[in-house]
Parts: sequence; C-alpha cells; structure tokens
Amino acid sequence: MRLVLATRNAHKVRELATLLTPHEIVELPADVVLPPESADTFAANALAKARTAARATGLPAIADDSGIEAAALGGAPGVRSARYAGDDASDAENLAKLLREAPAGSPLAYVCALAYVDAQGGEQLVEGRCTGTLDPDPRGDGGFGYDPAFLPDDIADGRTMAELDAAEKDAISHRGRAAHELLALLDS
Ligand code: IMP
Repeated sequence: MRLVLATRNAHKVRELATLLTPHEIVELPADVVLPPESADTFAANALAKARTAARATGLPAIADDSGIEAAALGGAPGVRSARYAGDDASDAENLAKLLREAPAGSPLAYVCALAYVDAQGGEQLVEGRCTGTLDPDPRGDGGFGYDPAFLPDDIADGRTMAELDAAEKDAISHRGRAAHELLALLDS
C-alpha cells in the first residue's frame, strides 16, 4: 500500500520508512499545511495530522505524535517534548532542560501514538511505550531528541538509546512497538 507520512521530521521519516516495510512511504507534499500540535494527548495530535494529510492527498496517511514523560515531573514534557525549552528549541536545548529538571536515574517513558486515516475516512489508532531511566551523562550519536540520556529498560547493558544501532532501537522503541501493532491491524 502507498502511505503518505504526515510529518516533516526527517528522523521520524527514516525510522517509519523502515518500520512500515513492506508498505511504500510517500513523503508529505510540500504545500500541505499540518495542523498545530495543540491537543493535550498524543492520540488527538496524531489523528489531526493524519486526517489533514489524507484529505489533502487522497492517499491513506500515517501520523506519529510522540514524546517523553518523566514521572518526577508529573509526566512533563509529554506532548510538549519538541517545544520543552521554548517554541523553537533545539533537541540539545530540550535535553539540557530535562537534565536540569529531572533527577538522575528517574523513570522515563517514551510514548508514540500512531494514527492511520484512509481516503474514505476509516481510522485506526495505536500507542506504543518504551520505559527507561535518565542517565545524567548523555552520549551516543544515533537516534535523535532525548536518546543520548535515555537508558532503555529493555537493553540493560549501560548503553543509551543513542548508542544502539537502528535495528536495536526499532525493536524496543515506542515507535517500533506502535508500528508493529498498526501493521498487524492493517493486515487483518
Ligand atoms: P512531535 O511528535 O513532532 O511533537 O515531537 C516529538 C518530540 O519528542 C521530538 O522532537 C523529540 O524531542 C521527542 N521524541 C519523540 N520520539 C523520540 C525518540 O525516538 N527519541 C528521542 N526523542 C524523541
């Protein structure tokens, strides 16, 4: 199936193109304007983006809304993960803020809502989670965002998410788990 990906995030395009194999991923046309991520749940934001992309292109669309929750911060940054240190903040600035505000070793969870909307308006919504802890010594060049300080529970060998190779991250990540579930639903 040809699926349009409702995102402008190059990291997500790269991860989802692999995760959604064998489906063919079509990049979002440049003139499609995605809605602001203004809802207070990952699911609502993902659905809004997928609906917009499906309506604009006439193709089935997939959208991801994701982020990281720190239990010590009441679940923040959550849906505001991309803008945690300010509207135009870089990944490095957002990570530095999390390291200032959450104690070393505190529990974290990555969350990914993945929405599918087809041209007839049929919708599917799934969610994937990946738990870990905050490492105060960020390291690694893989992944993106908060990965250098995220120690995944599923691979407890001292490597951060940014030190895993792409296949290792895909096997345990919130996005990998959500994609796995969505593929099963689309196949059924
Ligand atoms: P959004 O889904 O475009 O609102 O942005 C999600 C934000 O959550 C990203 O900018 C990252 O800061 C963070 N995030 C989501 N998934 C990951 C991941 O796999 N690794 C690291 N950070 C992530």
